[in-house]
Amino acid sequence: MRAALEAIFATRIDHVRVIEHSWFVRLHGRAIATTRRGRIYLRGSAQEFYTNPPLLLHEYCHVIHQWQPGTLTVARYLAEWLRRGYWNNRYEVEARAFAQAHAAALHTRLKGGGASAAPAPQPSSASRR
Ligand SMILES: [Zn+2]
Repeated sequence: MRAALEAIFATRIDHVRVIEHSWFVRLHGRAIATTRRGRIYLRGSAQEFYTNPPLLLHEYCHVIHQWQPGTLTVARYLAEWLRRGYWNNRYEVEARAFAQAHAAALHTRLKGGGASAAPAPQPSSASRR
């Protein structure tokens, strides 16, 4: 799972802590996850999280692409949220687009590991008369 995510993000993600069954998420209304710098807080279990490619990509996008470079801060998120709400604020739009763009690729990597997805080359029967 980590290798698959690291391939998609093209960076290491092992410094990101995932905190399951977090009370902190409960402070965020009905959210199922919330992020901070280097952290992902989950309402549910890590196991559920790791088997949900779109959610994985969405939350890691917030951490790796937004918190890490500093484009996302609590103050900035609040300002965006007040202006545009949850759905249309630029951080959510970006995370959603990223998840959508890479969900299929992650799903394939998690399932097949790549090598098994390609059919083994077969000798052509036409060449053996
Ligand atoms: Zn989000």
